[in-house]
Amino acid sequence: MNCRHCGSTLRCDFLDLGFAPPSNAYLTVEDLAKPEIYFPLRLKVCEECWLVQTEDYAAADALFSAEYAYFSSASSSWLAHAKHYTEMMTTRLGLGLNSMVIEVASNDGYLLNNFVAAGIPCLGVEPTDSTADAAEKLGVPVLRAFFGEAVGTALTAQGKSADLILGNNVYAHVPDINDFTRGLKAALKAGGTVTLEFPHLMRLIEHNQFDTVYHEHFSYLSLFTVAKIFDSVGLKVFDVEELPTHGGSLRVYGCHANDARRTTDAVATLLDEEETQGLRTTAPYSAFQRQAEQVKNDALAFLLQAKRDGKTIAAYGAAAKGNTLLNFAGVKPDLLPFVCDAAAAKQNKYMPGSHIPILHPDEIMRNRPDYVLILPWNIATEVRQQLASLAGQGTKFVTAVPRLQIT
Ligand SMILES: [Zn+2]
Repeated sequence: MNCRHCGSTLRCDFLDLGFAPPSNAYLTVEDLAKPEIYFPLRLKVCEECWLVQTEDYAAADALFSAEYAYFSSASSSWLAHAKHYTEMMTTRLGLGLNSMVIEVASNDGYLLNNFVAAGIPCLGVEPTDSTADAAEKLGVPVLRAFFGEAVGTALTAQGKSADLILGNNVYAHVPDINDFTRGLKAALKAGGTVTLEFPHLMRLIEHNQFDTVYHEHFSYLSLFTVAKIFDSVGLKVFDVEELPTHGGSLRVYGCHANDARRTTDAVATLLDEEETQGLRTTAPYSAFQRQAEQVKNDALAFLLQAKRDGKTIAAYGAAAKGNTLLNFAGVKPDLLPFVCDAAAAKQNKYMPGSHIPILHPDEIMRNRPDYVLILPWNIATEVRQQLASLAGQGTKFVTAVPRLQIT
């Protein structure tokens, strides 16, 4: 297999999680009587551009069905993050009634909603019908498409090029990252700004976040690699911020390569830090499999011991990362009888692979388990607040990543 960015032969293994069904392929009760498709879940790193990427295995459109269940608005902390971003960018770029904002993978309109309220023209690009329907109900215009060079070129031809084009948690999810980046370039007005948020590969390695690996997540990105990809299409990274979201993300700011804006010191500082961490050598990549197995083994040992001790346990958050952990560890309902999730679209379905039922959060309050395993550790603080009354009755909270923690 060759690198999806630079075409070099991929020789260095990063992570092998065996086989798993797609992380967002939540099952109905009827589906439980049918065979389930498992795909290999393996990552390699390119020794030329240091892009970490999934091994090729299947067509991308098989992963994003019309029933794809993730609705961004289900997380209140993510809504607050989006609102803060829109206010900050409106001020920083002086956006107004004659500006154009495009969000790629606009999901249910959780972010553009804020631009609609401010009267700033905007357009979402979103291939998933269920979330696009929800966005349109909020008054957010949506183009139903997979974004890439063809869409970017068409938008500019229609006079809809962007003063701001943004993608939050989409860049790592696109199968053809070169075509996507050419699309950003094509849709960007002269003097316009691109921002992309994605989990930072350096933090993934540092904090054992192997459970953020799933099939729909094709790339794992350092600033070094993103700067290289931008450069290859005539864009440049001129600023970067580190964000706490998803266990440590980057927000990169890009513009046309010939834009006069000066590149901030933050870019050089972070590139240096990545180099210090060895991200342009094979060492940290080669060591990662063992780190992942340690976390998985500790989580599994905890579940087995809780079962032997006759303790009751439930999980909270039917997140994709939970599926990666549970399927890598081979956990089934005998060890973890149910998981609760606030997203109505997931309730009364089953986790792919593990077939653990997903219930309304009220169930966890009714059952008062001895332990609540919080699968989306990135929103553990928010979940603990929601379930604070359980802690008062003796329930302990458990997170598996970056290492097993019981409090
Ligand atoms: Zn490469």
